[in-house]
Amino acid sequence: MTESTLRVGLVLPDVMGTYGDGGNALILRQRARMRGIDAAITEITLDDPVPESLDVYVLGGAEDYAQRLATRHLTRYPGLQRAAEAGRPVLAICAAIQVLGHWYETSSGEKVEGISMLDLTTAPQAKRSIGELITTPQIEGLTQPLSGFENHRGGTTLGADARPLGSVRHGDGNVVGRGIEGAVQGSVIGTYMHGPALARNPELADFLLAKAVGRTLEPLDLPEVDQLRKERLAAGR
Ligand code: GLN
Repeated sequence: MTESTLRVGLVLPDVMGTYGDGGNALILRQRARMRGIDAAITEITLDDPVPESLDVYVLGGAEDYAQRLATRHLTRYPGLQRAAEAGRPVLAICAAIQVLGHWYETSSGEKVEGISMLDLTTAPQAKRSIGELITTPQIEGLTQPLSGFENHRGGTTLGADARPLGSVRHGDGNVVGRGIEGAVQGSVIGTYMHGPALARNPELADFLLAKAVGRTLEPLDLPEVDQLRKERLAAGR
């Protein structure tokens, strides 16, 4: 964070944001403000070039056609790629994990080139993965189970440069039967967890926030968030 205001980039909410994924930007802004850090959301739509100097970026899920529009825009304006190269944190949900890979094939069999920020590819699975998803995080700095709602036809295979975000305890994750969920590469985190993911997983929100502000953050005591987590984790059992 270089200025006094934390700048949260909400990338293409006009085409990517199923299940309220735009809420991830609200959570980051709110959790920053609760610690006295001024924060603002910049919405980047299909009418805007993608800036490379925001502090943290979030992208939501999308249906196949909207996902194609987003892919074209992010290819034309490579600000997100530049931001990730500079180590700025990026959170990509569902369709966005697919767009950030090398290529994805839609449910109608069309193969679309992605923007290669993540070393992964996505091809349709025999059956759509839908339901509660619970994982154990696999990356340093996260200790709490992760929970979300998954709904995707695409099955994602990681290459050697991407690590899973979590190991699956309940649900499908990247591909039915493989037991892993999400992708982490450099400062980019991809996951199939809708929810919004950061409302359900405050530890993940603070993980991104700490990277964005460049320092550790004091914990927040929010019993209502703990209650929401308890309910969500129980719903997956
Ligand atoms: N269209 C993609 C799929 O079905 C992503 C769906 C989503 O983002 N919910 O795999």
